[in-house]
Amino acid sequence: MKQPLVIHWFRQDLRLADNPALYEASKQGTVLPIYILDNKNPGAYAMGAASRLWLHHALLSLNQSLNQKLSLYLGNPLTILLDLVKHHHIKAIFWNRCYEPWCIKRDTLIKTQLQKKGIDIQSYNGSLLWEPWHIKKEDGTPYKVFTPFYQRGCLQSPLPRKPLPTPSLICCDKKATLTVNDILPLPDWSDKIKACWPIGEANAKRRLTAFLKKGIANYKEGRNLPAKPFVSRLSPHLHFGELSPNQVWYGAKSCGDSQQIAHFCSELGWREFSYSQLYFNPTLPQKNLQTKFDRFPWHQNQKHLKAWQKGQTGIPMVDAGMRELWQTGYMHNRLRMIVGSFLVKNLLLHWHHGERWFWDCLVDADLASNSASWQWIAGCGADAAPYFRIFNPVTQGQKFDPEGEYVRKFVPELKALPNKYLFSPWEAPEALLEKAQVVLGDNYPKPIVDLKLSRQQALTAFQSLKQEAT
Ligand SMILES: Cc1cc2nc3c(=O)[nH]c(=O)nc-3n(C[C@H](O)[C@H](O)[C@H](O)COP(=O)(O)OP(=O)(O)OC[C@H]3O[C@@H](n4cnc5c(N)ncnc54)[C@H](O)[C@@H]3O)c2cc1C
Repeated sequence: MKQPLVIHWFRQDLRLADNPALYEASKQGTVLPIYILDNKNPGAYAMGAASRLWLHHALLSLNQSLNQKLSLYLGNPLTILLDLVKHHHIKAIFWNRCYEPWCIKRDTLIKTQLQKKGIDIQSYNGSLLWEPWHIKKEDGTPYKVFTPFYQRGCLQSPLPRKPLPTPSLICCDKKATLTVNDILPLPDWSDKIKACWPIGEANAKRRLTAFLKKGIANYKEGRNLPAKPFVSRLSPHLHFGELSPNQVWYGAKSCGDSQQIAHFCSELGWREFSYSQLYFNPTLPQKNLQTKFDRFPWHQNQKHLKAWQKGQTGIPMVDAGMRELWQTGYMHNRLRMIVGSFLVKNLLLHWHHGERWFWDCLVDADLASNSASWQWIAGCGADAAPYFRIFNPVTQGQKFDPEGEYVRKFVPELKALPNKYLFSPWEAPEALLEKAQVVLGDNYPKPIVDLKLSRQQALTAFQSLKQEAT
C-alpha cells in the first residue's frame, strides 16, 4: 500500500538525530522535508548577516544528509504550506516548536488555517530541556530569579527527554527547485568567518565530543579565560538546532557528576531561563523589564557607537572582544559582559544598540539569549547585574587574560607592549610605547572615555533614577 505523504518542516532543528518531530513524521509515512526562509514575519528580528551565513552552510549540510531531498522555499510559510497541501496529498505536517513571539503568532495562525483544511498538525519540543510553561512557581507565576528557576524549577521537574535516534527516513523527491544559493546568497566577506567554523550536524557532534574530552574538565574556572579552549562554542549549533540541548545535557552527564559538569549544565539552564523570560515577556527585546529604566538618561553619540562597533575605543580588552566578534562571528562570554558593560555604562549608550549589533554580527544570535543578556548587562532585566556593578576592562584583562594572549591576538598593534601596560597603554611611559612601536592616537586610538570618570557618570545617572522614584 502506498504510504501517506507527510511534511517535516525544518526550522531551528537542522538535524536528523534527536529530532522529535522528524522522528514521529518518519513513523507516519513518506516524508517531504522542507525549509522555508521567512523574511517577513520576523519584522525587525529577521536574521542578521552572520546568522544567514551560518544558515546557508547548515542547509547545504542538511540537504546532503537528506540525499539532496530538502525542498527549499522563500516567502510566507502559510501561503507555501497551503499551496503544498493543495497540490500534493499531504496528510500531516510536523514541526518542532519555536518560542520567538513572532513565531508563536505565525505558527498559531498556520495551525488553525491548516487544521480547517483537515490537515493533521503535530508540533514537538525539539530545542529546550523544559518548555517555559512547565517551569513556574507554586503560585503559577514565572520565576524572575535564575537560581530558584534552575534549582527549584528545572532540577525538581522530571528529567529532560533522553535523545532519540536518527529515524530511518523514506523521503519523497523534491517538490521545489530553489537552491540554497537562491534563497541565501553568500556575501563576499563570508569566507573569513566560515573558516572559523565547521558547520552542520556532523561537525556539531564532533565539537561536542571534543569539548567533553578536553574542555569540560576545566569548565568552572576555565570558562572565564577567553584565550583557553575551555568553553564549548556550541551556541550556534544549539541555536540552529544542529544539536539538541538534550544531546548536550546527556553528553555532559555521561562524563560524571563533578562540579565542572554541574556548572556546565547550569549554563544550559541560563539558556532555558532566557527562553522562559522571552516567553513570559514577549516584549523582552524592546522593553526594559524594570520600567524605571524607561527614564534612564541615555546618551546619543554616533562617534562612540562606531568606535565600539569597530573595536576602536582605545580600551584593549573592549577592542579585542569587538574584533573577535567582527572577525569570527562569535565572542567569548566574558568579553560579551565586558563590552556590554562598557557600552551601557561607560558610554551610556542604550542597550538596544548593543542588542542590534550583536544580532547582526553573531553566528549564535538568538532572540531569547541576546535580549535577556542585554537586559541583564544593562541592569534593567530579570535577576540583572546590579547597575552599580561596572566591569573594569583593565582589571578584567589582568585577571582573565593574564598573559595577554587574547588581547595580542585581536589587537596586534599592541603585541610588543609588556603585560603590565597591555590593558592600559595610556599609562605606559613614552619610551616604552616607542619601543613597542605604539603611537597612541595614530596606530592605536587614545581611550574614547576616561574609565574612572565615565564610571562615576554612570553611577550618577543611575542615582538620578532612584531619586526620581522617591
Ligand atoms: C550581552 C550578551 C549577549 C549574548 N547573546 C547571546 C546570543 O545571542 N546567543 C546565545 O546563544 N548566547 C548569548 N549570550 C550568552 C553567552 O555569552 C553565550 O551563550 C556563550 O558565550 C556561548 O559560548 P559557548 O557555546 O562556548 O558557551 P558555553 O560556556 O560552552 O555554554 C554552553 C551553552 O550554554 C548556553 N549558555 C551559556 N551561557 C549562557 C548565558 N549567559 N545565557 C544564555 N545561554 C547561555 C549556550 O547555549 C552555550 O552554548 C549573550 C551573553 C551576553 C552577555
